[in-house]
Amino acid sequence: AGTVVLAATPIGNTADASQRLKDLLAQADVVAAEDTRRLYDLANRLGVRVGGRVIAYHDHNERRQADPLLDQVESGACVLVVSDAGMPTINDPGLAIVRRAIERGLPVTCAPGPSAAMDALALSGLPTDRFCYEGFLPRKATERRQYLRTLQGERRTMVFYESPRRLVDSVDSLLEAFGPDRAMALCRELTKTYEQVERGSIGEIRDYIQQNPPRGEIVLVLAGASREEAAAAAPEVLSEQDLARLAL
Ligand code: SAM
Repeated sequence: AGTVVLAATPIGNTADASQRLKDLLAQADVVAAEDTRRLYDLANRLGVRVGGRVIAYHDHNERRQADPLLDQVESGACVLVVSDAGMPTINDPGLAIVRRAIERGLPVTCAPGPSAAMDALALSGLPTDRFCYEGFLPRKATERRQYLRTLQGERRTMVFYESPRRLVDSVDSLLEAFGPDRAMALCRELTKTYEQVERGSIGEIRDYIQQNPPRGEIVLVLAGASREEAAAAAPEVLSEQDLARLAL
């Protein structure tokens, strides 16, 4: 059999592309890309000619496409999976093919590289020995509030992805759930020309973004609860319905 390769792509700085990514783009039999135009654009910037067949592989077809792609792996093909930026499967397509490959006993490997979560965590200055990746917060205010209550006793550093449009609302919800004094970092446009990391308390970051509404891509990193805060946090008991709604 061939193999599935999940390959990370740059999150802003093209020079972060690994030699392995370039070799795979040139040599893979099939490239399953979240957005084919962006894939060709990246390949152009890297000066690589994509050798294999390129197919669109995104949130809406990743389940449907997993088996046909794996049939090709079974016949010996190397199928490269890339998303628009960073690591596939991390709030990006990829999980469906990994799962099916495991079920079918087909080889999967990874050509690691940039991911905004790890970049932000390392730059945050907050403890990195234990952390949890929280992806995007719920969009609706009531669900966001309820979800954040389940994190009130969390002792690990937390990493959230955020869009600039929802940033003020999300930081307001963080303030409500964790109080103004908890330490956090706002990491923006990582690896790009205008990379910026603002570190401070939740209250300070809220004031900052009210005065300077940030644009671009954002990761928020939040310190975990102190022992005292964790002990004081009443464990939130959620109903089956709430768990389902919040996808917990
Ligand atoms: N798979 C990607 C990864 O490994 O980081 C994440 C994809 S997710 C759809 C996109 C989100 O990642 C953005 O909304 C932002 O929160 C974060 N992100 C991606 N690139 C970033 C960058 N250069 N700076 C800050 N955040 C970034």
